[in-house]
Amino acid sequence: MDTYRRAAVPPQKLYIGGTWQEAQGGTLDVVSPIDGQKLTTIESASAADVDRAVAAARAAFEDGRWSRMAPAARKKVLHRIADIIEREALALTVLGVRDNGTEIGMALKAEAGSAAGTFRYYAEAIDKVYGEIAPTAPDVLGLVHREAVGVVGAIVPWNFPLMIGAWKLAPALAAGNSVVLKPAETASLSLLRLAEICAEAGLPDGVLNVVTGEGRVTGESLALSMDVDVLVFTGSGATGRRLLEYSARSNLKRVYLELGGKSPNVVFADAPDLDQAAKVSAMGIFRNSGQVCVAGSRLLVERSIHDDFVALMAKHAKALKVGDPLDLSSQIGAVNSDTQLQGNLGFVADAVKEGGEIALGGSRILESSGGYYMEPTIVTGVRPDHQLAQREVFGPVLAVTPFETEEEAVQIANGTDYGLAAGVWTGNLSRAHRMIRDIRAGVVHVNTYGGADNTVPLGGVKQSGNGHDKSLHALDKYTDLKTAWIQL
Ligand code: NAD
Repeated sequence: MDTYRRAAVPPQKLYIGGTWQEAQGGTLDVVSPIDGQKLTTIESASAADVDRAVAAARAAFEDGRWSRMAPAARKKVLHRIADIIEREALALTVLGVRDNGTEIGMALKAEAGSAAGTFRYYAEAIDKVYGEIAPTAPDVLGLVHREAVGVVGAIVPWNFPLMIGAWKLAPALAAGNSVVLKPAETASLSLLRLAEICAEAGLPDGVLNVVTGEGRVTGESLALSMDVDVLVFTGSGATGRRLLEYSARSNLKRVYLELGGKSPNVVFADAPDLDQAAKVSAMGIFRNSGQVCVAGSRLLVERSIHDDFVALMAKHAKALKVGDPLDLSSQIGAVNSDTQLQGNLGFVADAVKEGGEIALGGSRILESSGGYYMEPTIVTGVRPDHQLAQREVFGPVLAVTPFETEEEAVQIANGTDYGLAAGVWTGNLSRAHRMIRDIRAGVVHVNTYGGADNTVPLGGVKQSGNGHDKSLHALDKYTDLKTAWIQL
Protein backbone atom coordinates (compact mmCIF):
# COMPACT_ATOMS: atom_id res chain seq x y z
CA MET A 1 0.00 0.00 0.00
CA ASP A 2 2.90 2.37 0.79
CA THR A 3 4.08 2.24 -2.83
CA TYR A 4 0.69 3.32 -4.11
CA ARG A 5 0.35 5.94 -1.42
CA ARG A 6 3.63 7.61 -2.36
CA ALA A 7 3.30 7.25 -6.14
CA ALA A 8 3.37 10.56 -7.96
CA VAL A 9 0.08 11.29 -9.68
CA PRO A 10 0.74 12.94 -13.06
CA PRO A 11 -1.44 15.81 -14.27
CA GLN A 12 -4.66 14.32 -15.60
CA LYS A 13 -6.30 14.90 -18.98
CA LEU A 14 -9.77 14.54 -20.47
CA TYR A 15 -10.59 11.20 -22.03
CA ILE A 16 -12.38 11.83 -25.32
CA GLY A 17 -12.78 9.46 -28.25
CA GLY A 18 -10.14 7.12 -26.86
CA THR A 19 -7.42 9.78 -26.51
CA TRP A 20 -6.18 11.95 -23.66
CA GLN A 21 -6.80 15.59 -24.43
CA GLU A 22 -6.16 18.96 -22.85
CA ALA A 23 -9.11 21.14 -21.99
CA GLN A 24 -9.57 24.63 -23.35
CA GLY A 25 -10.73 25.61 -19.87
CA GLY A 26 -7.35 25.24 -18.08
CA THR A 27 -6.71 23.07 -15.01
CA LEU A 28 -7.89 22.67 -11.40
CA ASP A 29 -5.70 21.68 -8.45
CA VAL A 30 -6.51 18.40 -6.70
CA VAL A 31 -5.92 18.69 -2.95
CA SER A 32 -5.74 15.54 -0.83
CA PRO A 33 -8.00 15.70 2.25
CA ILE A 34 -5.50 13.42 4.02
CA ASP A 35 -2.96 16.23 4.49
CA GLY A 36 -4.31 19.26 2.63
CA GLN A 37 -1.45 19.01 0.09
CA LYS A 38 -1.74 19.35 -3.67
CA LEU A 39 -1.85 15.91 -5.25
CA THR A 40 -2.06 16.75 -8.96
CA THR A 41 -4.21 18.69 -11.40
CA ILE A 42 -7.27 17.80 -13.44
CA GLU A 43 -8.45 19.50 -16.61
CA SER A 44 -11.35 21.89 -16.41
CA ALA A 45 -13.49 21.08 -19.44
CA SER A 46 -15.18 24.01 -21.18
CA ALA A 47 -18.45 23.83 -23.10
CA ALA A 48 -16.46 23.22 -26.30
CA ASP A 49 -14.58 20.33 -24.65
CA VAL A 50 -17.85 18.80 -23.50
CA ASP A 51 -19.30 19.18 -27.00
CA ARG A 52 -16.31 17.25 -28.39
CA ALA A 53 -16.91 14.46 -25.87
CA VAL A 54 -20.63 14.30 -26.70
CA ALA A 55 -19.81 14.25 -30.44
CA ALA A 56 -17.39 11.35 -29.88
CA ALA A 57 -20.04 9.47 -27.92
CA ARG A 58 -22.65 10.13 -30.60
CA ALA A 59 -20.36 8.98 -33.42
CA ALA A 60 -19.56 5.78 -31.52
CA PHE A 61 -23.23 5.13 -30.90
CA GLU A 62 -24.36 5.77 -34.46
CA ASP A 63 -21.77 3.60 -36.18
CA GLY A 64 -22.72 0.67 -33.99
CA ARG A 65 -19.19 -0.23 -32.81
CA TRP A 66 -20.70 -0.99 -29.40
CA SER A 67 -24.45 -0.51 -29.72
CA ARG A 68 -24.69 -3.20 -32.39
CA MET A 69 -22.00 -5.50 -31.06
CA ALA A 70 -23.39 -8.98 -30.28
CA PRO A 71 -24.65 -9.09 -26.67
CA ALA A 72 -22.31 -11.98 -25.84
CA ALA A 73 -19.32 -9.92 -27.03
CA ARG A 74 -20.38 -6.90 -24.97
CA LYS A 75 -20.79 -9.16 -22.00
CA LYS A 76 -17.17 -10.33 -22.34
CA VAL A 77 -15.90 -6.76 -22.34
CA LEU A 78 -17.81 -5.88 -19.16
CA HIS A 79 -16.48 -9.01 -17.46
CA ARG A 80 -12.94 -8.05 -18.50
CA ILE A 81 -13.47 -4.58 -16.99
CA ALA A 82 -14.45 -6.30 -13.72
CA ASP A 83 -11.38 -8.59 -13.97
CA ILE A 84 -9.01 -5.63 -14.29
CA ILE A 85 -10.71 -3.69 -11.50
CA GLU A 86 -10.27 -6.72 -9.25
CA ARG A 87 -6.65 -7.18 -10.29
CA GLU A 88 -5.88 -3.52 -9.61
CA ALA A 89 -8.23 -3.10 -6.67
CA LEU A 90 -5.63 -1.87 -4.21
CA ALA A 91 -3.94 0.62 -6.56
CA LEU A 92 -7.29 1.95 -7.74
CA THR A 93 -8.70 2.25 -4.25
CA VAL A 94 -5.63 3.96 -2.79
CA LEU A 95 -5.73 6.47 -5.64
CA GLY A 96 -9.38 7.19 -4.86
CA VAL A 97 -8.72 7.49 -1.13
CA ARG A 98 -5.89 9.98 -1.70
CA ASP A 99 -8.40 12.00 -3.68
CA ASN A 100 -11.49 11.80 -1.45
CA GLY A 101 -10.46 10.62 2.04
CA THR A 102 -12.67 7.53 2.57
CA GLU A 103 -11.18 5.05 5.05
CA ILE A 104 -9.36 2.33 3.09
CA GLY A 105 -11.08 -0.61 4.81
CA MET A 106 -14.45 0.61 3.65
CA ALA A 107 -13.21 1.87 0.28
CA LEU A 108 -11.75 -1.51 -0.70
CA LYS A 109 -15.18 -3.07 -0.38
CA ALA A 110 -17.38 -0.15 -1.35
CA GLU A 111 -15.26 1.18 -4.21
CA ALA A 112 -13.21 -1.33 -6.24
CA GLY A 113 -14.99 -4.39 -4.84
CA SER A 114 -18.44 -3.00 -5.42
CA ALA A 115 -17.59 -1.56 -8.87
CA ALA A 116 -16.28 -4.93 -10.08
CA GLY A 117 -19.42 -6.64 -8.80
CA THR A 118 -21.62 -4.10 -10.55
CA PHE A 119 -19.87 -4.59 -13.91
CA ARG A 120 -20.32 -8.35 -13.51
CA TYR A 121 -23.99 -8.04 -12.56
CA TYR A 122 -24.83 -6.03 -15.69
CA ALA A 123 -22.51 -8.12 -17.87
CA GLU A 124 -24.66 -11.11 -16.95
CA ALA A 125 -27.87 -9.18 -17.56
CA ILE A 126 -26.95 -8.35 -21.18
CA ASP A 127 -28.08 -11.66 -22.62
CA LYS A 128 -30.86 -12.33 -20.13
CA VAL A 129 -33.18 -9.39 -20.63
CA TYR A 130 -35.77 -10.02 -23.35
CA GLY A 131 -38.28 -7.91 -25.25
CA GLU A 132 -42.00 -8.76 -25.19
CA ILE A 133 -44.70 -10.10 -27.45
CA ALA A 134 -47.95 -8.33 -26.65
CA PRO A 135 -51.20 -10.29 -26.14
CA THR A 136 -52.87 -8.63 -29.16
CA ALA A 137 -55.66 -9.87 -31.45
CA PRO A 138 -54.48 -12.95 -33.42
CA ASP A 139 -54.16 -11.15 -36.78
CA VAL A 140 -51.53 -8.70 -35.56
CA LEU A 141 -48.20 -9.08 -33.85
CA GLY A 142 -47.24 -6.49 -31.27
CA LEU A 143 -43.54 -6.58 -30.40
CA VAL A 144 -42.07 -4.47 -27.64
CA HIS A 145 -38.38 -3.81 -28.26
CA ARG A 146 -36.01 -2.42 -25.68
CA GLU A 147 -33.52 -0.09 -27.37
CA ALA A 148 -30.48 1.76 -26.14
CA VAL A 149 -31.26 5.44 -25.66
CA GLY A 150 -28.11 6.73 -27.39
CA VAL A 151 -25.82 9.12 -25.50
CA VAL A 152 -26.01 9.06 -21.70
CA GLY A 153 -24.60 11.93 -19.65
CA ALA A 154 -23.62 10.83 -16.13
CA ILE A 155 -22.75 13.33 -13.38
CA VAL A 156 -21.51 11.81 -10.12
CA PRO A 157 -20.50 13.05 -6.65
CA TRP A 158 -17.30 12.79 -4.65
CA ASN A 159 -18.40 10.11 -2.22
CA PHE A 160 -17.81 6.60 -3.56
CA PRO A 161 -16.98 7.72 -7.11
CA LEU A 162 -16.14 4.22 -8.38
CA MET A 163 -19.16 2.56 -6.82
CA ILE A 164 -21.61 5.23 -7.97
CA GLY A 165 -19.81 5.61 -11.31
CA ALA A 166 -20.23 1.87 -11.88
CA TRP A 167 -23.91 2.04 -10.89
CA LYS A 168 -24.39 4.39 -13.89
CA LEU A 169 -21.79 3.11 -16.34
CA ALA A 170 -22.34 -0.62 -16.14
CA PRO A 171 -26.09 -0.68 -16.96
CA ALA A 172 -25.71 2.16 -19.49
CA LEU A 173 -22.96 0.28 -21.34
CA ALA A 174 -24.70 -3.07 -20.94
CA ALA A 175 -27.72 -1.63 -22.76
CA GLY A 176 -25.47 -0.54 -25.65
CA ASN A 177 -25.27 3.20 -24.99
CA SER A 178 -22.32 5.57 -25.23
CA VAL A 179 -21.54 7.63 -22.15
CA VAL A 180 -20.01 10.97 -21.23
CA LEU A 181 -19.08 10.84 -17.55
CA LYS A 182 -18.48 13.93 -15.41
CA PRO A 183 -16.86 13.07 -12.05
CA ALA A 184 -16.83 15.47 -9.10
CA GLU A 185 -13.98 17.97 -8.87
CA THR A 186 -12.70 16.34 -5.68
CA ALA A 187 -12.97 12.71 -6.81
CA SER A 188 -12.02 12.36 -10.46
CA LEU A 189 -8.83 10.31 -10.32
CA SER A 190 -10.14 6.76 -9.92
CA LEU A 191 -12.78 7.34 -12.62
CA LEU A 192 -10.14 8.59 -15.06
CA ARG A 193 -8.21 5.40 -14.37
CA LEU A 194 -11.41 3.42 -14.89
CA ALA A 195 -11.67 4.89 -18.40
CA GLU A 196 -8.22 3.44 -19.15
CA ILE A 197 -9.27 0.11 -17.70
CA CYS A 198 -12.35 0.05 -19.93
CA ALA A 199 -10.15 0.66 -22.98
CA GLU A 200 -7.74 -2.10 -21.91
CA ALA A 201 -10.72 -4.43 -21.55
CA GLY A 202 -11.74 -3.78 -25.16
CA LEU A 203 -14.43 -1.10 -24.86
CA PRO A 204 -14.24 0.65 -28.27
CA ASP A 205 -12.99 4.24 -28.41
CA GLY A 206 -15.63 6.90 -27.97
CA VAL A 207 -18.06 4.67 -26.09
CA LEU A 208 -16.91 6.05 -22.73
CA ASN A 209 -15.65 9.61 -22.43
CA VAL A 210 -14.66 11.34 -19.20
CA VAL A 211 -14.76 15.12 -18.80
CA THR A 212 -13.51 16.64 -15.56
CA GLY A 213 -14.10 20.13 -14.26
CA GLU A 214 -16.40 22.36 -12.27
CA GLY A 215 -20.07 21.64 -11.94
CA ARG A 216 -21.21 25.06 -13.06
CA VAL A 217 -19.13 24.83 -16.25
CA THR A 218 -18.46 21.22 -17.27
CA GLY A 219 -21.52 19.66 -15.64
CA GLU A 220 -23.80 22.44 -16.82
CA SER A 221 -22.56 22.10 -20.43
CA LEU A 222 -23.23 18.38 -20.38
CA ALA A 223 -26.70 18.87 -18.92
CA LEU A 224 -27.51 21.59 -21.48
CA SER A 225 -26.27 19.53 -24.43
CA MET A 226 -28.78 19.10 -27.24
CA ASP A 227 -27.26 15.73 -28.07
CA VAL A 228 -27.42 13.96 -24.70
CA ASP A 229 -30.49 11.72 -24.59
CA VAL A 230 -30.60 10.80 -20.92
CA LEU A 231 -28.92 12.45 -17.94
CA VAL A 232 -28.28 10.40 -14.81
CA PHE A 233 -27.14 12.16 -11.67
CA THR A 234 -26.15 11.50 -8.10
CA GLY A 235 -25.54 14.51 -5.89
CA SER A 236 -27.24 17.29 -4.01
CA GLY A 237 -30.83 18.43 -4.37
CA ALA A 238 -29.71 21.94 -5.33
CA THR A 239 -27.84 20.59 -8.35
CA GLY A 240 -30.64 18.15 -9.17
CA ARG A 241 -33.07 21.06 -9.37
CA ARG A 242 -30.77 22.85 -11.83
CA LEU A 243 -30.45 19.76 -14.00
CA LEU A 244 -34.23 19.64 -14.45
CA GLU A 245 -34.11 23.29 -15.53
CA TYR A 246 -31.27 22.60 -17.98
CA SER A 247 -33.27 19.77 -19.48
CA ALA A 248 -36.27 22.07 -19.90
CA ARG A 249 -34.06 24.73 -21.49
CA SER A 250 -32.42 22.30 -23.91
CA ASN A 251 -33.78 19.10 -25.47
CA LEU A 252 -36.11 17.77 -22.71
CA LYS A 253 -33.69 14.94 -22.05
CA ARG A 254 -34.87 12.47 -19.43
CA VAL A 255 -33.24 13.30 -16.08
CA TYR A 256 -32.84 10.74 -13.29
CA LEU A 257 -31.87 12.09 -9.89
CA GLU A 258 -30.38 10.31 -6.88
CA LEU A 259 -30.23 13.01 -4.24
CA GLY A 260 -29.59 13.50 -0.55
CA GLY A 261 -31.32 12.32 2.57
CA LYS A 262 -32.04 13.02 6.22
CA SER A 263 -32.72 9.42 7.01
CA PRO A 264 -34.48 8.49 10.26
CA ASN A 265 -33.15 5.57 12.29
CA VAL A 266 -35.98 4.64 14.67
CA VAL A 267 -35.15 2.70 17.83
CA PHE A 268 -38.00 1.20 19.88
CA ALA A 269 -37.56 0.07 23.47
CA ASP A 270 -38.47 -3.47 22.36
CA ALA A 271 -35.44 -3.77 20.04
CA PRO A 272 -33.87 -7.21 20.59
CA ASP A 273 -30.34 -6.05 21.46
CA LEU A 274 -29.89 -2.37 22.23
CA ASP A 275 -26.11 -2.55 22.45
CA GLN A 276 -25.91 -4.11 19.00
CA ALA A 277 -28.43 -1.57 17.71
CA ALA A 278 -26.23 1.25 19.03
CA LYS A 279 -23.06 -0.24 17.54
CA VAL A 280 -24.56 -0.68 14.07
CA SER A 281 -26.33 2.67 14.24
CA ALA A 282 -23.04 4.41 15.08
CA MET A 283 -21.48 2.96 11.92
CA GLY A 284 -24.70 3.82 10.07
CA ILE A 285 -24.04 7.51 10.59
CA PHE A 286 -20.31 7.88 11.17
CA ARG A 287 -18.62 5.65 8.54
CA ASN A 288 -16.96 7.65 5.79
CA SER A 289 -17.33 10.66 8.13
CA GLY A 290 -21.09 10.64 7.53
CA GLN A 291 -20.58 11.20 3.80
CA VAL A 292 -22.99 8.47 2.82
CA CYS A 293 -26.27 9.30 1.09
CA VAL A 294 -28.24 6.79 3.16
CA ALA A 295 -26.55 7.75 6.46
CA GLY A 296 -28.93 7.40 9.42
CA SER A 297 -28.46 11.04 10.40
CA ARG A 298 -31.59 11.34 12.59
CA LEU A 299 -31.81 9.03 15.57
CA LEU A 300 -35.43 8.80 16.74
CA VAL A 301 -35.42 6.97 20.02
CA GLU A 302 -38.29 5.92 22.29
CA ARG A 303 -38.25 8.25 25.28
CA SER A 304 -38.11 5.47 27.90
CA ILE A 305 -34.68 4.36 26.64
CA HIS A 306 -33.45 7.73 25.37
CA ASP A 307 -30.67 8.41 27.87
CA ASP A 308 -29.41 4.82 27.98
CA PHE A 309 -29.39 4.48 24.23
CA VAL A 310 -27.60 7.80 23.66
CA ALA A 311 -24.98 6.64 26.18
CA LEU A 312 -24.54 3.39 24.22
CA MET A 313 -24.24 5.26 20.93
CA ALA A 314 -21.68 7.62 22.48
CA LYS A 315 -19.70 4.63 23.80
CA HIS A 316 -19.52 3.01 20.37
CA ALA A 317 -18.91 6.26 18.51
CA LYS A 318 -16.09 7.22 20.87
CA ALA A 319 -14.41 3.88 20.22
CA LEU A 320 -14.22 4.55 16.46
CA LYS A 321 -10.72 5.59 15.48
CA VAL A 322 -10.65 8.65 13.24
CA GLY A 323 -7.42 9.17 11.32
CA ASP A 324 -5.34 8.77 8.19
CA PRO A 325 -7.67 6.92 5.80
CA LEU A 326 -4.75 4.91 4.44
CA ASP A 327 -3.98 3.50 7.89
CA LEU A 328 -5.84 0.19 8.10
CA SER A 329 -6.57 0.77 11.77
CA SER A 330 -8.57 3.95 11.03
CA GLN A 331 -12.29 3.23 11.10
CA ILE A 332 -13.16 6.72 9.90
CA GLY A 333 -11.06 8.70 7.43
CA ALA A 334 -11.06 12.31 6.33
CA VAL A 335 -13.82 14.73 5.46
CA ASN A 336 -13.66 15.32 1.71
CA SER A 337 -12.66 19.00 1.67
CA ASP A 338 -12.11 22.03 3.84
CA THR A 339 -15.39 23.49 2.54
CA GLN A 340 -17.25 20.39 3.65
CA LEU A 341 -15.53 20.41 7.06
CA GLN A 342 -16.40 24.07 7.67
CA GLY A 343 -19.99 23.33 6.66
CA ASN A 344 -20.19 20.47 9.17
CA LEU A 345 -18.85 22.66 11.98
CA GLY A 346 -21.32 25.40 11.02
CA PHE A 347 -24.22 22.94 11.31
CA VAL A 348 -23.09 21.98 14.83
CA ALA A 349 -22.76 25.62 15.93
CA ASP A 350 -26.23 26.42 14.56
CA ALA A 351 -27.72 23.36 16.25
CA VAL A 352 -26.43 24.56 19.60
CA LYS A 353 -27.92 28.01 18.95
CA GLU A 354 -31.27 26.33 18.29
CA GLY A 355 -31.14 24.56 21.66
CA GLY A 356 -29.40 21.27 20.84
CA GLU A 357 -26.84 19.87 23.26
CA ILE A 358 -23.58 18.26 22.21
CA ALA A 359 -23.44 14.80 23.78
CA LEU A 360 -20.25 13.84 21.92
CA GLY A 361 -17.65 15.45 19.69
CA GLY A 362 -18.39 18.64 17.80
CA SER A 363 -14.88 19.61 16.75
CA ARG A 364 -12.21 19.36 14.11
CA ILE A 365 -9.36 17.06 15.10
CA LEU A 366 -5.86 16.15 13.88
CA GLU A 367 -5.46 19.67 12.51
CA SER A 368 -1.66 19.46 12.60
CA SER A 369 -1.82 16.81 9.85
CA GLY A 370 -3.06 19.53 7.50
CA GLY A 371 -5.98 17.23 6.62
CA TYR A 372 -9.69 17.53 7.31
CA TYR A 373 -10.86 15.35 10.19
CA MET A 374 -13.87 15.63 12.45
CA GLU A 375 -14.97 13.75 15.56
CA PRO A 376 -18.16 11.72 15.47
CA THR A 377 -20.69 14.17 16.84
CA ILE A 378 -23.97 13.51 18.63
CA VAL A 379 -26.42 16.35 19.26
CA THR A 380 -29.38 15.67 21.57
CA GLY A 381 -32.50 17.74 22.17
CA VAL A 382 -33.02 18.28 18.45
CA ARG A 383 -36.65 19.14 17.76
CA PRO A 384 -38.21 17.99 14.48
CA ASP A 385 -38.36 21.58 13.21
CA HIS A 386 -34.68 22.34 13.97
CA GLN A 387 -32.34 22.81 11.01
CA LEU A 388 -30.31 19.79 12.11
CA ALA A 389 -33.44 17.65 11.80
CA GLN A 390 -34.39 19.08 8.42
CA ARG A 391 -31.21 19.75 6.43
CA GLU A 392 -28.68 17.24 5.19
CA VAL A 393 -25.24 17.82 6.76
CA PHE A 394 -23.41 15.08 4.86
CA GLY A 395 -20.94 14.88 7.72
CA PRO A 396 -20.43 12.93 10.98
CA VAL A 397 -23.23 14.66 12.86
CA LEU A 398 -26.15 12.80 14.42
CA ALA A 399 -29.36 14.57 15.49
CA VAL A 400 -31.22 12.83 18.34
CA THR A 401 -34.96 13.28 18.91
CA PRO A 402 -37.11 11.34 21.41
CA PHE A 403 -40.61 10.02 20.62
CA GLU A 404 -43.43 8.55 22.74
CA THR A 405 -45.52 6.39 20.40
CA GLU A 406 -45.21 4.50 17.12
CA GLU A 407 -47.53 7.05 15.45
CA GLU A 408 -45.34 9.92 16.60
CA ALA A 409 -42.22 8.09 15.38
CA VAL A 410 -43.75 7.74 11.90
CA GLN A 411 -44.83 11.36 11.88
CA ILE A 412 -41.35 12.62 12.79
CA ALA A 413 -39.67 10.13 10.45
CA ASN A 414 -41.76 11.42 7.53
CA GLY A 415 -41.47 15.07 8.55
CA THR A 416 -38.73 16.18 6.16
CA ASP A 417 -38.50 16.89 2.43
CA TYR A 418 -36.38 13.76 2.02
CA GLY A 419 -37.22 10.07 1.57
CA LEU A 420 -34.07 8.12 0.84
CA ALA A 421 -33.54 5.57 3.62
CA ALA A 422 -34.68 4.61 7.11
CA GLY A 423 -33.93 2.15 9.89
CA VAL A 424 -36.24 0.47 12.38
CA TRP A 425 -35.14 -1.47 15.44
CA THR A 426 -37.84 -3.58 17.06
CA GLY A 427 -38.53 -7.12 18.19
CA ASN A 428 -42.18 -6.84 17.14
CA LEU A 429 -42.71 -8.27 13.65
CA SER A 430 -46.04 -6.55 13.06
CA ARG A 431 -44.60 -3.22 14.10
CA ALA A 432 -41.65 -3.74 11.74
CA HIS A 433 -44.03 -4.30 8.83
CA ARG A 434 -46.18 -1.32 9.82
CA MET A 435 -43.07 0.87 9.85
CA ILE A 436 -41.96 -0.44 6.43
CA ARG A 437 -45.45 0.40 5.14
CA ASP A 438 -45.70 3.83 6.76
CA ILE A 439 -42.24 5.33 6.36
CA ARG A 440 -41.84 7.09 3.02
CA ALA A 441 -38.37 6.09 1.90
CA GLY A 442 -36.64 4.16 -0.87
CA VAL A 443 -35.25 1.60 1.58
CA VAL A 444 -36.19 0.65 5.14
CA HIS A 445 -33.63 -1.37 7.08
CA VAL A 446 -34.97 -3.55 9.91
CA ASN A 447 -32.73 -4.49 12.85
CA THR A 448 -29.69 -3.43 10.85
CA TYR A 449 -28.60 -0.29 9.07
CA GLY A 450 -27.07 0.26 5.65
CA GLY A 451 -26.68 -3.16 4.01
CA ALA A 452 -27.45 -3.71 0.33
CA ASP A 453 -26.20 -5.34 -2.84
CA ASN A 454 -26.70 -5.21 -6.57
CA THR A 455 -29.84 -7.32 -6.51
CA VAL A 456 -31.95 -4.60 -4.87
CA PRO A 457 -32.66 -1.10 -6.19
CA LEU A 458 -31.51 2.11 -4.50
CA GLY A 459 -33.48 5.27 -5.03
CA GLY A 460 -35.37 7.89 -3.14
CA VAL A 461 -38.88 9.29 -2.94
CA LYS A 462 -39.95 12.90 -2.28
CA GLN A 463 -36.97 15.26 -2.73
CA SER A 464 -34.46 12.42 -2.49
CA GLY A 465 -34.91 11.81 -6.18
CA ASN A 466 -36.48 9.63 -8.82
CA GLY A 467 -35.28 6.57 -10.70
CA HIS A 468 -33.22 3.78 -9.24
CA ASP A 469 -29.64 2.60 -9.43
CA LYS A 470 -28.81 -1.12 -9.14
CA SER A 471 -30.88 -4.24 -9.88
CA LEU A 472 -32.49 -4.97 -13.26
CA HIS A 473 -34.79 -1.97 -12.72
CA ALA A 474 -31.85 0.35 -13.42
CA LEU A 475 -31.88 -0.81 -17.05
CA ASP A 476 -35.16 1.06 -17.55
CA LYS A 477 -33.26 4.35 -17.36
CA TYR A 478 -30.93 3.38 -20.17
CA THR A 479 -33.44 1.91 -22.60
CA ASP A 480 -36.40 3.15 -24.60
CA LEU A 481 -39.39 1.05 -25.47
CA LYS A 482 -40.27 0.72 -29.14
CA THR A 483 -43.42 -0.97 -30.39
CA ALA A 484 -43.59 -2.82 -33.68
CA TRP A 485 -47.20 -3.37 -34.86
CA ILE A 486 -47.30 -5.96 -37.62
CA GLN A 487 -50.37 -6.97 -39.58
CA LEU A 488 -50.25 -10.70 -40.20
P1 NAD B 1 -23.12 18.18 -5.80
O1 NAD B 1 -24.53 18.27 -6.28
O2 NAD B 1 -22.47 19.42 -5.31
O3 NAD B 1 -22.19 17.65 -6.99
C1 NAD B 1 -22.46 16.44 -7.64
C2 NAD B 1 -21.94 16.53 -9.06
O4 NAD B 1 -22.67 17.53 -9.75
C3 NAD B 1 -20.46 16.93 -9.17
O5 NAD B 1 -19.87 16.23 -10.24
C4 NAD B 1 -20.54 18.40 -9.47
O6 NAD B 1 -19.41 18.90 -10.17
C5 NAD B 1 -21.77 18.44 -10.35
N1 NAD B 1 -22.43 19.76 -10.40
C6 NAD B 1 -22.47 20.72 -9.45
N2 NAD B 1 -23.17 21.78 -9.90
C7 NAD B 1 -23.60 21.48 -11.15
C8 NAD B 1 -24.37 22.16 -12.12
N3 NAD B 1 -24.85 23.39 -11.91
N4 NAD B 1 -24.63 21.54 -13.29
C9 NAD B 1 -24.18 20.29 -13.53
N5 NAD B 1 -23.41 19.60 -12.65
C10 NAD B 1 -23.13 20.19 -11.48
O7 NAD B 1 -23.09 17.01 -4.74
P2 NAD B 1 -21.80 16.48 -3.93
O8 NAD B 1 -21.53 17.45 -2.85
O9 NAD B 1 -20.72 16.11 -4.87
O10 NAD B 1 -22.37 15.12 -3.34
C11 NAD B 1 -23.01 15.03 -2.14
C12 NAD B 1 -24.50 14.87 -2.36
O11 NAD B 1 -24.77 13.69 -3.10
C13 NAD B 1 -25.24 14.68 -1.05
O12 NAD B 1 -26.42 15.42 -1.08
C14 NAD B 1 -25.55 13.19 -1.03
O13 NAD B 1 -26.63 12.81 -0.24
C15 NAD B 1 -25.79 12.93 -2.47
N6 NAD B 1 -25.67 11.49 -2.77
C16 NAD B 1 -26.79 10.77 -3.08
C17 NAD B 1 -26.70 9.40 -3.34
C18 NAD B 1 -27.92 8.59 -3.71
O14 NAD B 1 -27.75 7.45 -4.17
N7 NAD B 1 -29.12 9.09 -3.55
C19 NAD B 1 -25.45 8.76 -3.27
C20 NAD B 1 -24.33 9.54 -2.93
C21 NAD B 1 -24.46 10.90 -2.70
